[in-house]
Amino acid sequence: MKQSHLFTKTRFEAPKDEVSKNAELLIRAGFIHKDMAGVYSYLPLGLRVMNKLSGIIREEMYALGANEVSLAALQNKELWEKTGRWSDDVVDNWFKTEFKNGSEAGLGFSHEEPLTNLLKDHIRSYKDLPVSVFQIQTKFRNEVRAKSGILRGREFLMKDLYSFARDQKEHDEFYEKAKEAYVKIYNRAGIGEKTHLTFASGGVFSKYSHEFQTETEAGEDTIHFDAKKNIAINKEVFTDDVLESLGVDKKNLVEKKAIEVGNIFTLGTRFSEPLGLTYTDEKGEVHPMIMGCYGIGVGRLMGTIVEVLGEEDAMVWPDEVSPFKVHLISIANGDADVEKDAKEAYEKLKQAGIEVLFDDRELRAGEKFADADLIGIPHRIVMSKKTREAGTVEYQDRKKKETKNIGIDEVIETLA
Ligand code: ATP
Ligand code: MG
Repeated sequence: MKQSHLFTKTRFEAPKDEVSKNAELLIRAGFIHKDMAGVYSYLPLGLRVMNKLSGIIREEMYALGANEVSLAALQNKELWEKTGRWSDDVVDNWFKTEFKNGSEAGLGFSHEEPLTNLLKDHIRSYKDLPVSVFQIQTKFRNEVRAKSGILRGREFLMKDLYSFARDQKEHDEFYEKAKEAYVKIYNRAGIGEKTHLTFASGGVFSKYSHEFQTETEAGEDTIHFDAKKNIAINKEVFTDDVLESLGVDKKNLVEKKAIEVGNIFTLGTRFSEPLGLTYTDEKGEVHPMIMGCYGIGVGRLMGTIVEVLGEEDAMVWPDEVSPFKVHLISIANGDADVEKDAKEAYEKLKQAGIEVLFDDRELRAGEKFADADLIGIPHRIVMSKKTREAGTVEYQDRKKKETKNIGIDEVIETLA
């Protein structure tokens, strides 16, 4: 893409109404736009990051054998009454609305009820199980606090996966595989080292749930991390009994602030029972299915990457997440030969299948570099009169903080 075609502008002053680092940097870089507290729109560069993250998540979900769907956002009140979750006393972050005839509907904050209900039309026999279903879709939550930028939105993109099994053993097998898929996702998203499997409260059907918590000062949670065992315990379940049951020694624990970037939860028959999602076994006996749910906030993940990797006036996106792989910056200052060379390099990069943002604008070098630092593309090629005379380009690997003067073909070889 040519940067002269990109409608968004960077800005150097921080937005006055933001206190969070992720929103500040992302707004300054032109990735997102704030519409209201907790409500953000995604602009071209931000959308590209969201699509990269969704792509990683989708790949790992398909690798688990999960089916992809897209469920309605508007929720049927009667269904949620059956599980006891329609009441605002039980779920305090509902957005509710009404139809012209006066009957009520909700805006989905999660999708256990509608998915469980619709599977009744398709799954009846033990032969149909196990099954897993996911979507990447907008959720609505009337959050009281919305000061953390895209870490806590009132409208946000979530991947939610649900599993359906015959019995506990079959459920546990899938649960373990889902855990491994999550580890892969955070590694690919570039925050694997800072993201820890965390034991949290489990509800009625299992002793614990598992959260994936990323270390950051912006986090709202407190975890106790054991670096040797590479597990953490959420403060909410932190007791001597829990430490003992996990075989963790108090003196190996370090307290950290963290943000929950995902969680996995055993639901048991909490939803299958009231909604009547059952299957018939080999002997003709009928049982409710054993369920699990597995969430990742895609916007929160993007915000977390910024919290972890963002600096004062700069960002370096992980390769797999960056809006483009390489930023080609032409410093022509009106020199037609440099302009021509840069255009040729742009075409070559595209032909090699490398995603490139081409800064073809007529601006001073300083402005271009400041913009490029904010936008945060990890690989950079600079072409100027000087590099032209040397017959090379300047190639920067911003993550490794390395700069080399080499030929464009060599850069393409490195990047492809
Ligand atoms: P939290 O404890 O942070 O309020 P939660 O436990 O309510 O989150 P879930 O209902 O399990 O979250 O949602 C699944 C995932 O969706 C979370 O792990 C988180 O990554 C993300 N998420 C939850 N709420 C929000 C939000 N308001 N904005 C962005 N992402 C969110
Ligand atoms: Mg939580």
